Amino acid sequence: MDLSLRHITHRYDEVEVLRDINLEIKQGQIVCIIGPSGCGKSTLLRMIGGLERPTSGEVLQIGEPPADCLNPLTYIFQDFALLPWRTVEGNVSLALEDHALSATMREEIIADVLARTKLADFRTAYPRQLSGGMKQRVAIARALSVRPAVLLMDEPLSALDSQTRELLMDDLVDLWEKENYTAAYVTHNLAEAVRLGHKIVVLSRRPGEIRDIVEIDMPLSARTGENSELESIQKRLWTLMRDEARAADRELLDAR
Ligand code: ADP
Ligand code: MG
Repeated sequence: MDLSLRHITHRYDEVEVLRDINLEIKQGQIVCIIGPSGCGKSTLLRMIGGLERPTSGEVLQIGEPPADCLNPLTYIFQDFALLPWRTVEGNVSLALEDHALSATMREEIIADVLARTKLADFRTAYPRQLSGGMKQRVAIARALSVRPAVLLMDEPLSALDSQTRELLMDDLVDLWEKENYTAAYVTHNLAEAVRLGHKIVVLSRRPGEIRDIVEIDMPLSARTGENSELESIQKRLWTLMRDEARAADRELLDAR
């Protein structure tokens, strides 16, 4: 299933937050969305997920989600959103409880996603017994359990320290290369975008408009170590982001 965003514009009362966003998210693609703080990234992701309706424009689903898909558009949040009184297994099973599945089927799905996120040995652990990186892997396992057509990730690594973030990026690359996931991935971290994105969309300051779209052909698994092509892309993205952030600051000053 592909997604096509057509002329998405959004206002909260008088404030225009997004302006004429046109974007294709193709199956098997990781699309990273970057932009300065407050430019409308989370708002855009909520519109993609159908949690909020744009003032104008539309998000089209093209093609069918996979036959065994339980929830086509599935979120993964920055703060993990785990229930502390439930085990790892219990937290994953939360996503499955609304669906008519046999107990055996549910157990199979849980075992499968815990294996894929390397959490099989922690099935009966509670969130407080886990590191930050493992907690986010539980949230990822939960999202994968409903076999989404598109994963919607809002700064999923932002609450983690830089070492954990690196490790989790490797895990995501493994998963994505193996299983050909589709994702819209919001981040303000350029290194993450360049490591994980097939396509990087740069939004301007508010109202967020598309400033640039950069496609990177290199396979995700090849993007480790020093790499001059990726470094120069990251530099170019940084120049764009820096200019937008500075302009946003100047506008605040002028508005005083
Ligand atoms: P980002 O994720 O890029 O930091 P957001 O999408 O969260 O940006 O917010 C974009 C702008 O919209 C911000 O100025 C924010 O204050 C405003 N905003 C976000 N949600 C709401 C809301 N529910 N009501 C009013 N304004 C909002
Ligand atoms: Mg946000």
